[in-house]
Amino acid sequence: MTNETWGRVRVELRKAVGENNFSAWIDPIVFDCLEDRTARFYVPTNFFGSWVSQNFRDVILRHLNSAGVGVDRVEFSVCPADAVRADYANAAPVPATRPSLRAQSLGLKTGTDDLPGATLNPGYTFENFIVGKPNELAHAAARRVAEGRDVTFNPLFLYGGVGLGKTHLMHAIAWDLRTRFPEARILYLSAEQFMYRFVRALREQDTMTFKQIFRSVDVLMVDDVQFIAGKTSTQEEFFHTFNALVEEGKQIIISGDRAPVDMEELDTRIASRLQCGLVVDLHPTDYELRLGVLQHKAEQALARNPQIKLAEGVLEFMAQRISTNIRVVEGALTRLFAFADLVRREVTIEMVQDCLSDILRSTDRKVTLDQIIKTTCEYYNIRQADITGSSRARAVARPRQMAMFLSKTLTSRSYPEIARKLGGRDHTTVLYGVRKIEELMAVDSQIAEDAEILRRMLEA
Ligand code: ADP
Ligand code: MG
Repeated sequence: MTNETWGRVRVELRKAVGENNFSAWIDPIVFDCLEDRTARFYVPTNFFGSWVSQNFRDVILRHLNSAGVGVDRVEFSVCPADAVRADYANAAPVPATRPSLRAQSLGLKTGTDDLPGATLNPGYTFENFIVGKPNELAHAAARRVAEGRDVTFNPLFLYGGVGLGKTHLMHAIAWDLRTRFPEARILYLSAEQFMYRFVRALREQDTMTFKQIFRSVDVLMVDDVQFIAGKTSTQEEFFHTFNALVEEGKQIIISGDRAPVDMEELDTRIASRLQCGLVVDLHPTDYELRLGVLQHKAEQALARNPQIKLAEGVLEFMAQRISTNIRVVEGALTRLFAFADLVRREVTIEMVQDCLSDILRSTDRKVTLDQIIKTTCEYYNIRQADITGSSRARAVARPRQMAMFLSKTLTSRSYPEIARKLGGRDHTTVLYGVRKIEELMAVDSQIAEDAEILRRMLEA
């Protein structure tokens, strides 16, 4: 079948399923190939694929055959490019296995829980959550809400970039509440799932049941709320659900990728409702947090697989060099251990460089010494002539040491090269400067923050 044939089939499908269904469910799917009488299509998410498969597979099959394409089966898979796109990669709550997903979509009982939520990840507990500076506030708020004693923070709104632990914290709250209050009706789902359920309720003209289900819960958790920003009727319904629950003193926990005020297409009433609760953000990870996560994960992996030997400095190297989100850090470690298990060699820094070259490359900083000097001067509001000059005044000396530290950690330049760039100093001065900043970072949070902000500015 050619794309052109698929184009013609689409026209027929539009007539058959109606404009709304077409634009919601058929339009986004992309024809991939026809093999062995199986037509394969790409869909944006697993959830979407499952939905289309349950609701439109037959009509698609029928129309393909009427158009003269001999097909017995239609299959949907997630488009690889889309699968790693931030918003979808973030969709941890969508279970990967079809059977349980099917049960949920049909509103059947899943496990002991008759709520239409998503499956909780058994690993996303407080025990497995490493607390560091970037997430300590979010963690503390989550802990408090998980105690479930009184509803002080309502709603709790967690926000931050991809892979920083929002979903993990929400699941952890749910696990804790479940243990503490087995009778409580706790509903966790993604905003995407909320929307699909709502759209289906509309189509089946059964919004009463929908409202009843959502308004009967004790705790409602909606992950990745940015997904419904701009989707007017879903937002409307969400707003009403939200208000009904808040009025009854039910706990609501929501996550998003930005602060409510920064979500442009979010209904302003929702945004201001969200602002009324506790809004906390998860900051980008720092070295300590990444190292903490790596140590925790490595410990677990080594317990499962005691033959693996881990050389000194490997985790530190990874924490230093992989500076993106925790999901990437975790993925890197998993791959590394799988490799080590296969080749039965000790895990060394060289092995990390071989095995993770793509990840290291993608986060490899192409920062130049000139950029570092320029940015550091701007940040501390001093002149470039000062930083390369000979003054030892603290106001100049500290930024100079910071520039040395950044040069050493963000580039692969040697001490002598850095020394030359910074006004032809002795290389031991650079060595000393780097150590000094490292020491200070451990005891002086201002210095640690300066270093982190500068790093982010330079890597941006
Ligand atoms: P988000 O929802 O913010 O995109 P996730 O909660 O899905 O991020 O986290 C991505 C991955 O990183 C998950 O596997 C999660 O367990 C892990 N992770 C995130 N933060 C932490 C942390 N502080 N400690 C341990 N693991 C973490
Ligand atoms: Mg998430």
